[in-house]
Amino acid sequence: MQKIQNFIDGRFVEGTGGEFACHFPTTGEVFAEVSAAGQNDVDAAVGAAKAALKGPWGQMSVPERVALLRKLADGINARFDEFLAAEIRDTGKPRSIASHIDIPRGAANFNVFADQILTASTETFEMATPDGGGALNYAVRGPRGVIAVVCPWNLPLLLMTWKVAPALACGNTVVVKPSEETPATATLLGEVMNEVGIPRGVYNVVHGFGPGAAGEFLTSHPDVDGVTFTGETTTGAAIMKAAANGLRPVSLELGGKNPGIIFDDADLEATLEGIGRACFANTGQVCLGTERLYVQRGIYEKICEGLAQKARSYKMGDPFDTATTMGTVISAEHRDKVLSFYEKARASGAEVLAGGGVPDIKGYEGGYWVEPTVWTGLAEDHPVVTDEIFGPCTHIQPFDTEEEAITLANDSPYGLAASIWTRDLGTAHRVAKQVEVGITWVNSWFLRDLRTPFGGSKASGIGREGGVHSLEFYSELRNVCIKL
Ligand code: NAD
Repeated sequence: MQKIQNFIDGRFVEGTGGEFACHFPTTGEVFAEVSAAGQNDVDAAVGAAKAALKGPWGQMSVPERVALLRKLADGINARFDEFLAAEIRDTGKPRSIASHIDIPRGAANFNVFADQILTASTETFEMATPDGGGALNYAVRGPRGVIAVVCPWNLPLLLMTWKVAPALACGNTVVVKPSEETPATATLLGEVMNEVGIPRGVYNVVHGFGPGAAGEFLTSHPDVDGVTFTGETTTGAAIMKAAANGLRPVSLELGGKNPGIIFDDADLEATLEGIGRACFANTGQVCLGTERLYVQRGIYEKICEGLAQKARSYKMGDPFDTATTMGTVISAEHRDKVLSFYEKARASGAEVLAGGGVPDIKGYEGGYWVEPTVWTGLAEDHPVVTDEIFGPCTHIQPFDTEEEAITLANDSPYGLAASIWTRDLGTAHRVAKQVEVGITWVNSWFLRDLRTPFGGSKASGIGREGGVHSLEFYSELRNVCIKL
């Protein structure tokens, strides 16, 4: 049985918070025991991170840090297959996804933020003074200090490095709390940190659950100087409360119930390809995924038919097999949550265009499978249409006018992402300006330039990360005013 330990001050250590099991979602089998961090382990991790700020790390120039960030990217790539296997075992996601998205982006995040910090500038202002001598203001970028990084399970390495890379680029130290479902890649990254010569204490990992455990111990720790979190909206609110005690800044990337809007003039084939990914990629476990689809009446039947066909086209099975295109969901608990929505849809008389149940995958009967599912016919206030399900499913509803589509899209407490499908640039631009979300794609989905602002409005988050926006969150700007 594999053992997964905490990584504190450059060493792998047992925690005092007991042990918990890690399941391979494809079979349900336990493949690892994880050592959970207790309060004293979290204290040790935060203490190590605080001390490291005063050590060699704190003295490094930006080019020296940049060189280390590039080595981290190379270090992940050098052990690509190990990261890949660890991510697949933790999540059950197919190799075809993890090898194209999760692991390459995990490495790329370090290179992207190495570039960002090298080219980052700060402001200078010359000012007049009554004596005529004038004064010069300039801002100096420094780290905030110890950053708590709390991560979800859907894209474990990708989303963790999305925060760790800019935090380190800005000179901070970090304590990471990966999801209890997916502890492996964050731990493996500890080995790479040592291999490439990141000073001890700069990167620490504590394992365990959230409330009353490692997550809460970390986010409420008085020596943490900032908290960055990706996960559910309700967890974000709890973390914000914990961070308020001590007035620590927070960056919150939260849940969504993202609309897709398809107009009559959309390119049918390209739209079905894109929206199919938006609904089903990563078994629907993508915060940016589309669970509400609004389709203009003229193309409605074709989209319903085409998307149902897409849903039926996935090959489910062994995630290590390159032919597999869809895996399980993350856990038995999450499968039951997703299936409870399938049941609610059925009970309310939804028309099930595809899926709606549990597939029979020979040889993997213990896995957490759910069928890719497409419904129509539910009211706008039905839980299937209002709540984030985080499964491979979507509800389609027809609309007639642009105004109606915008109203429907905005009728949600969430505001993370939207996609618009049309050949008319005017329509695309008008609608994109009015949908209340942080990220809008036109004729695409999940097309990411990592320099762009990324984050949600309304209940989908606070703040923006990506490019200079990440640098803003992970830096403390200090203005210096020199009287000349
Ligand atoms: P979650 O909120 O249940 O857990 C996320 C992390 O928070 C885990 O590490 C967990 O242990 C920890 N945690 C839970 N309660 C805590 C507490 N009280 N204090 C401190 N830590 C606590 O989320 P999840 O189920 O792992 O992930 C799925 C959710 O993440 C979905 O809602 C999805 O939309 C969201 N998500 C958002 C984005 C984005 O960029 N906006 C990206 C990916 C996922």
